[in-house]
Amino acid sequence: MRPFEWIEAASSAEVTAAGATTVADAMVMTNGHRKVSDPTVVKAGGIDLLDLMKEELLQPRRIVNLRGIAGLDKIAGQEGGRLRLGALATVAQLAVDPLVRPYAALADAARNAASPQIRNVATLGGNLLQRPRCWYFRSVHHHCVRKGGETCFAFGGENQYHAIFDHRGCAIVHPSTLATALVAFDARIELTDAAEAKRETALEEFFVLPTRDPHRENDLRAGEIVSAVLLPKLAAGARSAHLKQAEKESFDWPIADVAVVLEADAQGLCRRASVVLGAAAPVPHRARSAGGGAARQAAQ
Ligand SMILES: Cc1cc2nc3c(=O)[nH]c(=O)nc-3n(C[C@H](O)[C@H](O)[C@H](O)COP(=O)(O)OP(=O)(O)OC[C@H]3O[C@@H](n4cnc5c(N)ncnc54)[C@H](O)[C@@H]3O)c2cc1C
Ligand code: SF4
Repeated sequence: MRPFEWIEAASSAEVTAAGATTVADAMVMTNGHRKVSDPTVVKAGGIDLLDLMKEELLQPRRIVNLRGIAGLDKIAGQEGGRLRLGALATVAQLAVDPLVRPYAALADAARNAASPQIRNVATLGGNLLQRPRCWYFRSVHHHCVRKGGETCFAFGGENQYHAIFDHRGCAIVHPSTLATALVAFDARIELTDAAEAKRETALEEFFVLPTRDPHRENDLRAGEIVSAVLLPKLAAGARSAHLKQAEKESFDWPIADVAVVLEADAQGLCRRASVVLGAAAPVPHRARSAGGGAARQAAQ
């Protein structure tokens, strides 16, 4: 691992002042030239970031630690009934926080992700922005499309864990288990820039398909940080669940997962069903026909 400078940020303005770029941009190399030379990148729990560095896929010049930014780990209700999840909240916090418990699919997804040690360190923001698990992407010997190369090795190679939907150009599956549940709840993501200006967008639209840009999984811009995820007020009678199937009983990413949020009326009739599949496509995949088909079934 090459030496790097360590910067403790106390605010998002300090992140931008340090010249932070996105890890996606820092990993792209075309015709032998890096898109960003000597990059500065941000770190939350550091689990994915340090993996990329140890694998020599990412060689930052400077690392900006976000963990000192006050208040970024808070989970709190907002006026109007929304729930605000700070980007530095850990996966372990999301699994047990009483304010998250009514969003059962999210608490389940958090409990179902990784191992206890990892959940204690991994953050919400880092989980949503972790890079794909495709083994060609994770190999320094394969300069594939996502890293700026010409070839997607998955199409002619080992692809049993790859996407079954929307895989034109690159067949990664989105690695975040939390994202499956959050998209099912129609969560929104809040991003903060250098001037502390905030932009908010639907999480579902924040994720990017390879046909739009094969080099990145989301619309994070250089100098921005994820500051929070916002959950809408739950409808009365809403029920939800998240199920994960992995190859091993112990900690692992899912080979398939699904989050379902059902909204029922006073008679118990299902009025809305939101069904999202994880590990199936390069972004959390909304199963529109399954959701529509369930609309008239009883919720219980
Ligand atoms: C054995 C194992 C099993 C796992 N199983 C699962 C699983 O089942 N499900 C699952 O979802 N994950 C799983 N993971 C992945 C793990 O949950 C993620 O690596 C972790 O959540 C990343 O969070 P972090 O805070 O450590 O992020 P970091 O590694 O610090 O950052 C990840 C990325 O996000 C960027 N970043 C972080 N926070 C911000 C922010 N606030 N604003 C802007 N950029 C930011 C960083 O620059 C980096 O690119 C597993 C990991 C391991 C090692
Ligand atoms: S699926 Fe995507 S990440 Fe994997 S080899 Fe193909 S282009 Fe690279």
